[in-house]
Amino acid sequence: TVRPFAQHRPTEGARSVLPAVLGADLQVPLGSGATASFANFDHAATAPCMVAVAEAAQAFLPWYASAHEGSGTLSAMSTARFEEARRVVRAFIGCRDDDYLVLTRNTTDAVKLLAMAVPDGTTVVVFSSEHHALLLPWQDVHRLPIPSSVEDMLASLDDALRTLGGPVLVAVSAVLNVTGELMPLEDIVALCRRHGARIAVDAAQLAAHQPIDITALDVDYVAFSGHKMYAPFGIGVLAGRPDWLAAARPHLAGCGATVHVGDGTVTWASGAARHEAGGANVVGAVALAAACQTLQTAWNSVMPYESVLLNRLRSGLAEIPEVVEVSLFGTTSERVAMVAFTVDGVDSALLATALSVEYGIGVRHGDFCARPLARHLSGERTAVRASLGLGIGVDHVDRLVDAVRTISEIGP
Ligand code: PLP
Repeated sequence: TVRPFAQHRPTEGARSVLPAVLGADLQVPLGSGATASFANFDHAATAPCMVAVAEAAQAFLPWYASAHEGSGTLSAMSTARFEEARRVVRAFIGCRDDDYLVLTRNTTDAVKLLAMAVPDGTTVVVFSSEHHALLLPWQDVHRLPIPSSVEDMLASLDDALRTLGGPVLVAVSAVLNVTGELMPLEDIVALCRRHGARIAVDAAQLAAHQPIDITALDVDYVAFSGHKMYAPFGIGVLAGRPDWLAAARPHLAGCGATVHVGDGTVTWASGAARHEAGGANVVGAVALAAACQTLQTAWNSVMPYESVLLNRLRSGLAEIPEVVEVSLFGTTSERVAMVAFTVDGVDSALLATALSVEYGIGVRHGDFCARPLARHLSGERTAVRASLGLGIGVDHVDRLVDAVRTISEIGP
């Protein structure tokens, strides 16, 4: 009953559109016995490695050594590559001259660092629709309800900023990870500025899909992860205003974060080094820089390409009567790179398993680490999220739509 992929219409794949930026093709066996290129619709969790990233990391592997330690040739080379990577990433997000750019492990780590640096007496304002990484780490937090519209969102933020006393930091995602909706950042920034609040933007779900410029957008902090933008795990970024970060206790206390350690005394380093103690992830930094450089030169292809994929996916799913696109119940109408949906009569866990085993299609199901929003959108039923990017071809989109149609007609 399962139609093998071989019978599906092969269409133009991403490889022919963006040949320079794609990773290796992973062939997977399907339930039918045929093989097909694995359709990885889970870019929002982790995007596959770009060729340029893999090559940059591979070329550097024989040379890496401890950065910022010793004057040996390899160590000096690693220090230079680490700092060069930092400059590339700074340029990628348009840092101001005095911004710190701390290389962290990922977005969760970056937000935690910021949370530790927020001065006592500062209230952090977040919407309950956020990913847990942005929702949970704050000391003194004021959670706003999941908004029903953009107007409601801005009104409730305005209200909070008007009534909360003392300094405020607003923490908001550029793109919500359940719906793919683009938050109205310019309006949110304008409100923050009007009320004298700082703003931190979690760009984990934006960085691979659209440029973000910390200066042009006039935001105070930006955080994102390498592994969601075609680089490997273990490297992320917190960039932003120097004062809180310079005054904060070091994120990790240890070698590299100090300028002097005496008998019972310690003088902590300033600059990004204050928060980067321990062996630096130089290979990760080199890889992240390669991803930034590749994306920076490819935005003009990436953005239209992904919008073709997204429109095709959404309109294909919209033609299947059993499919309910729960991401449509989000707040804003601007979307990038993902669709969350349920299929009437089919459990989402079963749907995700059938898509993987029988059709070679990877999707995510569950709460997406944003439980309040996931529950708000689909109730006790979990949804399936298909998220895309440069590892996805038009043929993959058609295969997903066909598979969902078949499953909704005949069951998993
Ligand atoms: N913020 C958002 C909006 C996310 O979507 C995610 C991951 O899905 C994170 C933060 C956490 O990213 P990481 O797991 O790389 O720390």
